[in-house]
Amino acid sequence: MKIKRLLRTVLSFVMVAALNIVVVSSYTPASASNRLTQQEIRDEINRIEQENADRQEEIDKLDGEITDTQKFAEEADALLGNQKNEVDYYNNLVYYKNEDIKAMQSEIDKKNDEIKELDDKLAKADADIKAAEKNNAENLEKFAQIIRTMYTSGNSDVFGVLSGATDFYQLMVSSEIVGNITEKNYEFMNQLKADIKQLEADKNTFETDKKALEDKRTALEADMKILEGEKADLVTLQDEAQDKADEYQASYDKYQSILNDLQYEQDNLKYLVSVGEAEIEAFEEQLKQLIIENTQQGTTLQEGDWIWPVPGFGYISCYYGWDYDFGRFHKGIDVGDWGIWGSNIYASKGGTVIIAEDWYIPGYSYGKYVTVDHGGGYTTTYAHMDTVNVYVGQVVEKGDVLGTVGNTGFSTGPHLHFEIRIDGEPVDPFGYVEIYR
Ligand SMILES: [Zn+2]
Repeated sequence: MKIKRLLRTVLSFVMVAALNIVVVSSYTPASASNRLTQQEIRDEINRIEQENADRQEEIDKLDGEITDTQKFAEEADALLGNQKNEVDYYNNLVYYKNEDIKAMQSEIDKKNDEIKELDDKLAKADADIKAAEKNNAENLEKFAQIIRTMYTSGNSDVFGVLSGATDFYQLMVSSEIVGNITEKNYEFMNQLKADIKQLEADKNTFETDKKALEDKRTALEADMKILEGEKADLVTLQDEAQDKADEYQASYDKYQSILNDLQYEQDNLKYLVSVGEAEIEAFEEQLKQLIIENTQQGTTLQEGDWIWPVPGFGYISCYYGWDYDFGRFHKGIDVGDWGIWGSNIYASKGGTVIIAEDWYIPGYSYGKYVTVDHGGGYTTTYAHMDTVNVYVGQVVEKGDVLGTVGNTGFSTGPHLHFEIRIDGEPVDPFGYVEIYR
């Protein structure tokens, strides 16, 4: 509980301090010399209004910059969106190209497997041929042994036949004629010869098949090279698209960051304007208090009617009360006939001029204006004047000219803003005056 109360105290102090030191110090009562005069307060209000006007100008300028930057950000965003689509497009193409490459690779792998299978068959055929040749050589050796035996046994006839043979097979055949080779031996030799021939034929077939497979593989590898070339091109396009997307992203981010800065700056200015407005309100409250103190409270309201301040004009462009057009409470009535500009404004009742302001900021507040104290707590105010013809402290009679109708301050065309207040609080003027044309 204690902490809560402490926090509240600190918070309220900070808030008051934020509002304005001047307001706070000006509220310390003390001696009369410490208090600001009406003129000093009005000077303060004018100063803050000028500051706020400058800030508003800056805010409006920032509005333009924010709009421009938003446009740039939107453009970058649109480009980024398109570019992302393009990146997706290339991502897809690269994906499918990779699928093609995978399929091609698996075909090449299959061919390699088949080639390897044939290599194995070739190796086996080679081994079989070697084995058969070895077998053959051994048999020939056995045969030679027989021949040698026949020769050493002195069979010259056989020797004569055999000496005419040109190779082992012929020798074999000749020796059969001689009758020294058994039928079994002869068949075996013939079979062996046939087997070797078959094996050589198989080997040839395998080699032809292998060559065909290798040609197919070469063709596939050439196709693969084409695919990889296409993929490389796609990847280049993909990279380019991505780079461009990155670029657009960077520019979008940049504009967003600028936008944030501008928005922050503008928010800050708007905050300062609201602080200024709070200060002005506080000063106006002070001014109201001073005016109430200075009004002829001892005196009573003058006898007699109130007169219409701008005779001959009666077009009411805005009544007393809530103003939907501007979303504010309208504290008086606006008379804004065509041709009213420069017409005289007459005191609605006799009294003393307590405000005769002819310094103003275009576009803000009352512009040039006059307030007359009528006694009994009653005042009238005439705003947006073109000229002010009276001075503070001047006593005026009902019907005296206070100045002329203008278009100064917060005003969108020549008109008179007319207010009646009782003890500083605005009331509907039509409770007192009637239009007189
Ligand atoms: Zn008005």
